[in-house]
Amino acid sequence: MKPFHQLITQSRFDRHELARMIAAQGDDHRLLLEQSARVTLQTIGDSVWLRGLIEFSNICIKNCYYCGIRRDNRLTSRYELDDDAIVQAALFARDKGYGSIVLQAGERNDAAFVDRIGRLLCQIHEKTHGELGITLSLGEQDAQTYRYWKQCGAHRYLLRFETSCEQLYYQMHPHDHRHDYQTRLQCLQALKSCGYQVGTGVMIGLPGQSFHHLADDLLMMQQLDIDMVGMGPYLEHQQTPLYQRRHELWPVQRRFQVALNMIAALRLLMPDINIAASTALQAIDPMGREKALRIGANVLMPNITPSVNRRNYQLYDNKPCVDEGADDCSSCIRLRVEMVGRKLALGEWGDSQHFFNRNKQ
Ligand code: SAM
Ligand code: SF4
Repeated sequence: MKPFHQLITQSRFDRHELARMIAAQGDDHRLLLEQSARVTLQTIGDSVWLRGLIEFSNICIKNCYYCGIRRDNRLTSRYELDDDAIVQAALFARDKGYGSIVLQAGERNDAAFVDRIGRLLCQIHEKTHGELGITLSLGEQDAQTYRYWKQCGAHRYLLRFETSCEQLYYQMHPHDHRHDYQTRLQCLQALKSCGYQVGTGVMIGLPGQSFHHLADDLLMMQQLDIDMVGMGPYLEHQQTPLYQRRHELWPVQRRFQVALNMIAALRLLMPDINIAASTALQAIDPMGREKALRIGANVLMPNITPSVNRRNYQLYDNKPCVDEGADDCSSCIRLRVEMVGRKLALGEWGDSQHFFNRNKQ
């Protein structure tokens, strides 16, 4: 077997090599993170871009087994921000120099919802004079809807495939027309065809997930030639069906370590993509997102949802930042980024270099 310090200097990896990196502990873990930090600085530099995250509704038609805002969770009180609150949050992001926003919500695909998002995009575009980059994270839609929202001003879209293993996918979702694995993959292709910068991702440490599953996840990201990734540890929520399998889970610290390994391995595999430091990392370690920025992530998504609604967007237990106002969160960002030797890029969209590189070819 190749020595680990040699393995991590490669730029191509097979699934066994990736699985070995993803499982790394001790000195190997440290070497992997150091190599990923080096590659990050050499390829995309030390900038960190911000996306103000607006979780504007927790109403969802889906029933993913892991998610706290799934349709059948009757204990969640449902909310939807009105247009004015969403536009105000966007203006707040612009004024703070965030450069971009992410509009995220539970999934809906009715005509009223599709139209409303279109109107909102136009409104935000107009009120901010086109200064803000806009990412959507609104689940599976038909190609026509994706095209319409793109024409209204969205240019990036996040849709995690959650796991590349179809069998595991159906252990995490009901097996029905609303949760179809092939549809999810078709959506990612449709988003690419519409010209979006496409982001995807997975949860790390799901019950039944192996290091080889995770290696396949990274290879699938490469095969899909995606531009951005947001991935983080799976965290249990008491009011979800998956909670019953909590005894099968790795300890949270191991999930955290494997999540950092995943980010580092992906940076070696796809050096020019954007990688987000996910909120779920912060739920395990108060410095979790910063640790990810230090070793290969280059995007931070501060939560700018009004704090009164934030407590109801509980995807998992102990989600951080639920009691803080947007100002509290933003004031410490610069300090936190600089603390790990990175530079905050304010007022820039921070598009994925990979998107431009793949469109040049
Ligand atoms: N509804 C849209 C969708 O599913 O794409 C966007 C919002 S959804 C809450 C965003 C992401 O949250 C999902 O892709 C999933 O990976 C993540 N998520 C949901 N429940 C989670 C949990 N218990 N632990 C970690 N991440 C979770
Ligand atoms: Fe809804 Fe997204 Fe949660 Fe699934 S992950 S239940 S689609 S909000």
